[in-house]
Amino acid sequence: MKYNHIETKVLHAGIEPDPSTGAIMTPIFQTSTYVQAAPGDHKGYEYARTQNPTRNALQQNLAALEQMKYGLCFSTGMGAVDACIKLLSPGDEVIATNDLYGGSYRIFTTVFAKMGIKFHFVDMSNPDNVSAAINSQTKMVWVETPTNPLLKIIDIESVAKIGHQAGAIVVVDNTFSSPYLQNPFKQGADIVMHSATKYINGHSDVVMGVLCVNDDDLHQRLAFLQNTCGATPGPMDCFLVLRGIKTLHIRMERHCQNGKKVAEYLAQHPKVGEVYWPGFENHPNHEVAKKQMRDFGGMISFTLKNDAIEPALTFLKSTKLFSLAESLGGVESLVGHPATMTHASIPKEQRIANGLKDSLIRLSVGIEHIDDLIADLDAALATA
Ligand SMILES: *Cc1c(COP(=O)(O)O)cnc(C)c1O
Repeated sequence: MKYNHIETKVLHAGIEPDPSTGAIMTPIFQTSTYVQAAPGDHKGYEYARTQNPTRNALQQNLAALEQMKYGLCFSTGMGAVDACIKLLSPGDEVIATNDLYGGSYRIFTTVFAKMGIKFHFVDMSNPDNVSAAINSQTKMVWVETPTNPLLKIIDIESVAKIGHQAGAIVVVDNTFSSPYLQNPFKQGADIVMHSATKYINGHSDVVMGVLCVNDDDLHQRLAFLQNTCGATPGPMDCFLVLRGIKTLHIRMERHCQNGKKVAEYLAQHPKVGEVYWPGFENHPNHEVAKKQMRDFGGMISFTLKNDAIEPALTFLKSTKLFSLAESLGGVESLVGHPATMTHASIPKEQRIANGLKDSLIRLSVGIEHIDDLIADLDAALATA
């Protein structure tokens, strides 16, 4: 039976009742190896780093969600990033989004730079900056949209076109959107990457990474790296992510509804400076967001009119429902302070030049009742 709606795919794609028992839920195949009838005579499974039925079901499900042929799971999002860059060789160059996840920036600049891969960080919300950085050594373009924490939107279609003209592989880190909000393959991405730790699992109880690909050759090269380098997830984690995915669409709907109301509330508050949320008509990339995203998500950043560290810290100590923590995309609301948390390693002048003010606060709006969330923000803003 054919079905194209993500609401159905999350429950059914790649998932069959267990043939030996009829169990409707994919079993947790907690095994390291598989018995062979004779050497080489096996059922498609030899060793659990290479193949695991629970992981296979998850990989097929994720591929369907991204409308691509193949999914590959990794023990963490960073394991997935690592495998992508290992497609490259010394002398190759990568053009990456400048407003990037800190862990990706760190692996690029500390681990792979010393192995002879060169990285250029550009503001991709203007695709001309990508064209300007292209040269004959460009082998990969690394896009993250919406960006973190300023929630700029990058036009995937334009950037992918520029990358492909140069013969580069185009990767999109789709963590902030989840497959519910956008499918970058439809705009030309070759590899779609996720930290499944965030919206895909959605319950703040697993770390995992994902790569989805459509090209057979690229899939083979990445599957080789997955097995050879070995950052594969265990079956229990795969089971938990499969379970989390079953409600992805319902969670995302509520994240988006609550996100919109929180953004609108903040925009009218006298103590709030700027609100960064791509759903506002006056957001500089609103039209691109409307074109490539289904809705605008639950991530919001904002500044205080009194742009100093102290009022922001007072606010962060005062929220009760919004928990102060790194990460995002779980059912519960989180709040973070880029200047002292995720982006603290960037020198202050550089940070301010990148537009990350001292009072910038990032919210991952959860699925609680909207009135309770706004009451929490309102009380905390009163103290700031
Ligand atoms: C969290 C995150 C990662 C890294 O994933 P882990 O699962 O923490 O290893 C990569 N990209 C983005 C955008 C993230 O938010």
